Amino acid sequence: MGSESETTPALTAASQTPPEVPAGDLNDLAAWVHHANRQWWQDLETGQPIVRNKAELLCLIHSEISECLEGIRRNSPDAKLPHRSAEEVELADALIRILDYAGGFGLDLHGAFHEKMAYNRQRADHSLEHRRQTHGKKF
Ligand SMILES: [Mg+2]
Repeated sequence: MGSESETTPALTAASQTPPEVPAGDLNDLAAWVHHANRQWWQDLETGQPIVRNKAELLCLIHSEISECLEGIRRNSPDAKLPHRSAEEVELADALIRILDYAGGFGLDLHGAFHEKMAYNRQRADHSLEHRRQTHGKKF
């Protein structure tokens, strides 16, 4: 790890301004993913809707991140989509689970995402200057 940052262009004054926010609503995407995954929100026997356990769903999101780490450790292709890296597919799995969670519980992921991106842009502790300090965040 560490060599990944070598592929990221250096920040310059001109690149401090982020590009325009891409179009698209994450809440629409979350609703679409949740609809595609609705069978996981139904009782196995009766087919009736169930309330999913949030802790269980969060563990499943975490499991996809762990699978991604293993894929990176082994530099392996994905078992089901072998033309893609496990890294890509497991991150996609994590994203699918996050969007399904947000769609299932009616969260405003779109609003929270954009508000947090805006907040992070002005955080002093995320600046290069602050990060270079003795106790600054190194990664
Ligand atoms: Mg997976």
